[in-house]
Amino acid sequence: MYCGEQFPAEELTLDHVEARVRRGDRSDGNLVSACRACNVRKGHRRLSDFLRESEVARENLFRYAMHVWPRILRKLREEMERY
Ligand SMILES: [Zn+2]
Repeated sequence: MYCGEQFPAEELTLDHVEARVRRGDRSDGNLVSACRACNVRKGHRRLSDFLRESEVARENLFRYAMHVWPRILRKLREEMERY
C-alpha cells in the first residue's frame, strides 16, 4: 500500500489504517497490506505523520485505498491539513 512495490503474500503484513491503540477496529475497511519495511517505518505513529513524511506513501494510499472506509479517509485528510 505505501511504497507500491509488489511482494509475495507471506512477506506482507496487515496494517491498521487507524491504529488499534487509537481505537481502530479490525474490519476490512481499516486494513491495508504493507511490506515489513513500510510497517516498521510507520511504527506506532499516526498514519498522517507517516504520510506527511513520505510523498510516495501518501500518493499510493489515496490512489489505492478504495476499500478503506470513507470516514477513515476523511479523518486522515483532516488530520493532514491540520498541521
Ligand atoms: Zn512497502
